[in-house]
Amino acid sequence: MTIDAIVIGSGIGGLVTATQLAAKGAKVLVLERYLIPGGSAGYFERQGYRFDVGASMIFGLGQNGTTNLLTRALSAVNVSQEAIADPVQIHYHLPQGLDLKVDWVYEKFLQNLTAHFRHEEEGIRRFYDECQKVFNCLNSIDLLSLEEPKYLLRVFFQHPLACLGLVKYLPQNAGDVARRYIKDPQLLKFIDMECYCWSVVPADMTPMINAGMVFSDRHYGGVNYPKGGVGQIAQKLVEGLEKAGGKIQYQAKVTKILTQRGRAVGVQLANGKVYHGKRIVSNATRWDTFEQLLPVEQIPNNEKKWQQNYQKSPSFLSLHMGVKQSVLPGETECHHILLEDWEKMTAAEGTVFVSIPTLLDPDLAPTGYHIIHAFTPHWIDDWQKLSSTEYEVKKEEAAWRIIDRLEKIFPGLDAELDYLEVATPRTHRRFLGREDGTYGPIPRRKLQGLLKMPFNRTAIRGLYCVGDSTFPGQGLNAVAFSGFACAHRIAVDLGL
Ligand SMILES: Cc1cc2nc3c(=O)[nH]c(=O)nc-3n(C[C@H](O)[C@H](O)[C@H](O)COP(=O)(O)OP(=O)(O)OC[C@H]3O[C@@H](n4cnc5c(N)ncnc54)[C@H](O)[C@@H]3O)c2cc1C
Repeated sequence: MTIDAIVIGSGIGGLVTATQLAAKGAKVLVLERYLIPGGSAGYFERQGYRFDVGASMIFGLGQNGTTNLLTRALSAVNVSQEAIADPVQIHYHLPQGLDLKVDWVYEKFLQNLTAHFRHEEEGIRRFYDECQKVFNCLNSIDLLSLEEPKYLLRVFFQHPLACLGLVKYLPQNAGDVARRYIKDPQLLKFIDMECYCWSVVPADMTPMINAGMVFSDRHYGGVNYPKGGVGQIAQKLVEGLEKAGGKIQYQAKVTKILTQRGRAVGVQLANGKVYHGKRIVSNATRWDTFEQLLPVEQIPNNEKKWQQNYQKSPSFLSLHMGVKQSVLPGETECHHILLEDWEKMTAAEGTVFVSIPTLLDPDLAPTGYHIIHAFTPHWIDDWQKLSSTEYEVKKEEAAWRIIDRLEKIFPGLDAELDYLEVATPRTHRRFLGREDGTYGPIPRRKLQGLLKMPFNRTAIRGLYCVGDSTFPGQGLNAVAFSGFACAHRIAVDLGL
């Protein structure tokens, strides 16, 4: 069989590319180094608990509009995923007593925030209303490849105002827009945190397109948890891929992208096996793709330039905990953000992210118990060059520092802990196959919004990238967007 497209990696970006292409009749082979699909949206099981390795605040599982890309990707290959609506996106526990919930209902969220900043009532509404404008533009058009001129022309004629709106916002960052309407320094810090908690950079460096999407979709399609755990999304996509005639191989680590006269023509696996395909797609990070799978000394100039603009974000220290139900006070929400000092927002162990998915899907833990996944940014450099004893001690100390802080929200956590597993940046690097365990690219300095983020084609003919190292960045729905775009561009290139 001639393979049309070989996809390296079965993260959500890789799987959406693969399923979209298979649905169009292409012969697709996905090669995944690990035992299961999903990458950062995967899972693992211990003692009756099913833990999400990373993502758990899921956008894109809504029913309406065009931005529900996970729902659309699944239905394109005739599978579906039950979604459990989460009424509150985040419960923030921030400095200076700024304690508030981001309700699914937009007006309720605005009321909650305005209760803390009465003098900024108008500015708050104008800022978030402007985010809605971005979202309304995105949510009215089919989200496909911006590298395909015929598609661009078609959407422009169908939705000229939405397209002009997006062109206007593409070079802007959320911080600049926020400062147009808001003056209060503490409120601006809050906007920084609203961005940081998914972009891992403050508002000044967060593209307005991404901010508009997140700050509005949470009140539209909403945040939904996939029944059975986040890992189900990838499992379902694989089911759909196979139904559509595509193939996936696990424990198939690609070590080399093969080129002939500057064109990508195949891949080689760690066991020496070689596959040839008409198109090669890398779902690995850009650093892994251009520095590990291709000769680093031949890195294309545009990739060097990209690296001057973007750097690797930190990885995370993750605590996967099983706890007794009694730890969680009544009306506890699924997602929390904890920070005690604004100055530490972007520091290692500054912001703590918390997910308790069992509040939405109790079947993920034994009866009477819950899962608490707490994670906080950490750099790999702090975890290198340690003996195994030093590594274990460091892990244990860091974990207890986080648990001590969480006691403020969940009193008795320490005493009611049933299970604890700690993952460091080294764990993320090893199991997610991501250089330095990075969460993905972040701007080195303030850039012009999303303008410098690359699309799917690369300088090497026949080689495409997909996933969070490509436009529009991190997050499951964002990498699904990149998957739709990548498959669209390849389908046009293959004449499908
Ligand atoms: C702790 C944490 C929390 C997060 N929380 C959220 C959240 O709440 N909501 C949200 O939307 N997003 C969240 N994210 C981000 C989100 O999970 C990622 O942006 C997204 O899953 C990345 O998808 P991807 O397709 O780019 O690739 P990845 O998930 O990185 O998948 C790439 C796949 O490629 C495989 N691979 C790599 N190299 C090779 C090779 N050489 N050969 C074969 N296979 C290879 C890997 O094993 C992996 O399966 C979180 C991430 C983390 C780490």
